[in-house]
Amino acid sequence: MQLSERIMGITGGGSDGWDVFLKARRMIAQGVAVTELTIGEHDIRTAAPVLQEMHRTALAGHTGYAAVPGTDALRDRVAARVHARTGVETHRENVLITPGGQAALFAAHTAVCDPGDMALYIDPYYATYPGTLRGAGAVPQAIGARAENAFQPRVEDIAPHAGKAQSLLINTPNNPTGVVYGRDTLQGIADLCIAEDMWLISDEVYDTQVWEGTHLSPRALPGMAGRTLVVGSMSKSHAMTGSRCGWIIGPEEAIAHLTNLATHTTYGVPGFIQDAACFALAQGDAFEEEVAAPFRRRRALAQQILAGQDVVGLVPAQGAMYLMLDMRATGMTGEAFANDLLDAHHIAVMPGESFGGCAPGHIRVAMTVADDVFAKALQTVLDHAVARCTARAAAQ
Ligand code: PMP
Repeated sequence: MQLSERIMGITGGGSDGWDVFLKARRMIAQGVAVTELTIGEHDIRTAAPVLQEMHRTALAGHTGYAAVPGTDALRDRVAARVHARTGVETHRENVLITPGGQAALFAAHTAVCDPGDMALYIDPYYATYPGTLRGAGAVPQAIGARAENAFQPRVEDIAPHAGKAQSLLINTPNNPTGVVYGRDTLQGIADLCIAEDMWLISDEVYDTQVWEGTHLSPRALPGMAGRTLVVGSMSKSHAMTGSRCGWIIGPEEAIAHLTNLATHTTYGVPGFIQDAACFALAQGDAFEEEVAAPFRRRRALAQQILAGQDVVGLVPAQGAMYLMLDMRATGMTGEAFANDLLDAHHIAVMPGESFGGCAPGHIRVAMTVADDVFAKALQTVLDHAVARCTARAAAQ
């Protein structure tokens, strides 16, 4: 039987960039001890008190259908948090609770794009972006953010497409680059969205992981609250990846229609998960800082290890749980270097080529293993790059 073009076209064909990752997983299955610095998952688990609250509320009976847009308590708590963090007045009616940020990304694009509409996104990008836009029926168009500009997108690169596009998806702090967009970048994007009557979809799932500068939510810029859908999640901020709890913040009318979409797709998020999320959010900033602290420490370790050499370039590591390393001095592609590193040292990283066309010759290192293991692995990455450079120079 024939399946729909839409579902068969989600991945777009070709390599999906997971080859090195899958090779590492095969080696692990064969008993090889691989240091995995690939995917964005904390090396801690969800905190016990959060799980205890989940257990308590489930036993107390919150196991039936929960309100489709989310419980009043969680919507209010998320609205208050967004208000406190951004200064933008935000009410329950501006909040839809979703099964994670990923579902929020899909729903947000469904809300603003009709089939065939152009949806812009920034390259390098989080692996699911183009497929999510295709899945929602839109036609994805990548806009390059280049290493020369420290991976900050430039308005002059977006502008030529803006008039034809329905939406622009941005992500700050950024996966995979670790870059935090500056005020000028965001103001330029906001001005363009207003001038071209374009929706902005702002993926802010790493908003609690900022090591340098400050996170600015573009919804807070003048004229943007009515045309911005913010994607948030408990996954990264509270180490609740498996709980699948996120949200969309947007104008009331959009949230009302998105609630309608949820009624016909997810039918909401389990009540006991929402109660646990509410409890976790009530623990405040200190709890979020505790979850972020290991990445802050490891980023500082990386800066020490990579200081005073010019073989491996560190893209400004301003936020999120990743480092983007510029390996171009080795003369190797990111993919070749990642394969070589895996074969020689059993360390798995993601090639920059996995994240689109704009980070060739780079690798992404997830800071998701214990500090000592991380420091040792990063030193090995550096030593390996130096050895490759020396061999290259000798061959010339
Ligand atoms: N956006 C970005 C940039 C991500 O890196 C991720 C997960 N890695 C997500 C969204 C989705 O996260 P979740 O569905 O777990 O909330």
